[in-house]
Amino acid sequence: MRVSLHRGRNLDVITGVQMVRSHWHALVQPGTFAAASLLAEIVDAFCELDLALPEVYELLGAATAALAASAEPASLVPRFELRLLAALGLAPPADACVRCSGAFNEHGAWLDVDSGGLACERCGGGRGDVNHLRSDDVANFRAVGAERGGPVRAAVTATPRTARAIDELVTWHLGKRPKARALLDTFPA
Ligand SMILES: [Zn+2]
Repeated sequence: MRVSLHRGRNLDVITGVQMVRSHWHALVQPGTFAAASLLAEIVDAFCELDLALPEVYELLGAATAALAASAEPASLVPRFELRLLAALGLAPPADACVRCSGAFNEHGAWLDVDSGGLACERCGGGRGDVNHLRSDDVANFRAVGAERGGPVRAAVTATPRTARAIDELVTWHLGKRPKARALLDTFPA
């Protein structure tokens, strides 16, 4: 949608709106709507009014188009979340321990949500199986957060453990679980 605004003293006035492209028909499907609601809620929670973030806008636009075209919209959410964290400078390193900066060994990594990232076995191994990401999950975490066309081959979908880790990181940064997450979870993956 292209919107023309007249800048006012307090509020801007909309002087014209032109529809460029609409995904509305696809987005009103219940599962797609739930996923799109989650994206919108997260962006709204992370971003401040009046602070232009073109990269986040591009990301949301591309993700909305991808949701509208997908038969499994929920599967696209983790990549969006991790790319959003990266755009905001909040994504944790995907190849080094968030505590000691050491490399991960063949046992993978552990979600250390209190430190906002992934920890190596020595620092995070005590965090239990529920927080464990095996080596293939860690590789997936790296791929899901990767830029398209960058040095790491990007992946569109996350493994269940990677998806959970990304969700927990978003919740930790926001200080609360997004409301639309519960709605999305009611739809079978
Ligand atoms: Zn460590």
